[in-house]
Amino acid sequence: MIIVLVGPPGSGKGTQAKVLCQSLGIPHLSTGDMLRAAKKAGTLEPALVALMDSGGLLPDAVVVGLVGARIAEADCQRGFLLDGFPRTVPQAEGLETVLARRATPLDVVVQLDVPDSLLEERLVHRRADKRTGQIYHLVYNPPPPDADLEHRADDRPEAVRERLAKYASMTAALLPFYEGRGLLRRVDGAGKPEAVLAQVLAVLPKR
Ligand code: AMP
Repeated sequence: MIIVLVGPPGSGKGTQAKVLCQSLGIPHLSTGDMLRAAKKAGTLEPALVALMDSGGLLPDAVVVGLVGARIAEADCQRGFLLDGFPRTVPQAEGLETVLARRATPLDVVVQLDVPDSLLEERLVHRRADKRTGQIYHLVYNPPPPDADLEHRADDRPEAVRERLAKYASMTAALLPFYEGRGLLRRVDGAGKPEAVLAQVLAVLPKR
């Protein structure tokens, strides 16, 4: 099963991806995580690090190359879930080319729909435990007292609004691209994680 998961920041993409990948036994490929790891390891060119740090998108060829190399690894042979990629139509086309080469087409693009007002509320109260990566909501899913919390700099209100606007302009072209290919499935992401998961599972192609 090859899945692309699309959703605005705060839509619960990370939470859904984790559970979904566990239950399907496929790896979770997040280009953001891959790039942060490359940056930390010192293998990302300084110019690309600067671009990433300024919140800009990396060149399409760079991310397509990164994903292409990753999905050639053994653990991706039974499928994988992409998160944060593709972000542009050229990336989506690049992915199609890579998948055509291995004769494994994309099965489905799942879009998590959440109203902007709810996204802002979720992100501003979102905290992650630095040691475990576990994500909490200060009101609805409070962290344990011993958690070592961090508030992502880009989860602050001004940055959140900018990220939501960026997401809207990014998906303006990407979602119609996948809709045109009959691959797009929209899921209401406003409910509890379990309810959203049930809907996501319901739109996956039956095997
Ligand atoms: P994320 O964690 O998905 O928000 O990604 C963090 C940063 O990595 C982004 O702000 C971009 O600089 C870069 N990045 C991640 N995925 C992509 C992508 N598909 N295309 C271009 N840049 C990306």
